[in-house]
Amino acid sequence: MQTDMMQPEFQTRTVKVGNINIGGPEFTVIAGPCSIESREHFQQTSTAVKKAGAHLVRAGIWKLRTSAEAFQGLGSDAFDLIKEVKKETGMPLVSEITDPRQIEEVYDFVDMFQIGSRNMHNYSLLKEVGKIKKPILLKRGFAALIDEWIKATEYIRMGGNDNIVLCERGIRTFETATRNTLDLNAVVYVKARTQLPVIVDPSHAIGLREFVPQLTYASAASGADGVIVEVHPQPDKAMSDGRQSLNFSDFEKMMLQLDKILNALGRPLQKI
Ligand code: PEP
Ligand code: MN
Repeated sequence: MQTDMMQPEFQTRTVKVGNINIGGPEFTVIAGPCSIESREHFQQTSTAVKKAGAHLVRAGIWKLRTSAEAFQGLGSDAFDLIKEVKKETGMPLVSEITDPRQIEEVYDFVDMFQIGSRNMHNYSLLKEVGKIKKPILLKRGFAALIDEWIKATEYIRMGGNDNIVLCERGIRTFETATRNTLDLNAVVYVKARTQLPVIVDPSHAIGLREFVPQLTYASAASGADGVIVEVHPQPDKAMSDGRQSLNFSDFEKMMLQLDKILNALGRPLQKI
């Protein structure tokens, strides 16, 4: 029997973050800066991505950088400004936690906890976020097998937390021209096997902003439930990941094109 390519025969579960459903019949866009740099920076970026149609804002408080000399994020200095900006924009926030002690510190103003690529194998952290009800965005380790990634979800589920969204963010391969290699195999495979929502991070996958829109469209066509994209008011001045960040105008253009593609695919952008 022929099956409709856009109607796979499994049901993805829906994960609710604030007023947004990830994994439902509509597509979700998460966008924002790699890290929060100041109140003005976070306010401007949140407002711009919201205006362009993003559903959730992403922004790092604690950054795990390869170099210990590099900007490590504002940490607790960002707490008050986040609360203020969220009050203005009303946008739910996705942010990475790197240590179980941070769960309590940011519980009231971070709506979805991101577990970053470097911590996908940090089973004690996974167990801790399994004990809470907050939605979890579990990024794939950059050298993790699909099977290891799926098994990592069990550590979160063990404690009773089923609100998991997976994120393919590119893996390390022999290729060095791009930052990582986007593995769309993984997207279609884990969606079918786990029935969890799966989103793609095209920014970390390719590391080069000029190609982020194409990977976003490809992700939508692959059946991913959404994307998480880095956006910065002045990418060349960003304190982290500027090379892969879109400026406001390029993000807006990408959203207009994505909207057309999603309509053609029969899976529109989620209405806010
Ligand atoms: C990020 O989202 O800014 C990030 C650090 O991602 P990853 O853990 O995928 O490298
Ligand atoms: Mn980043």
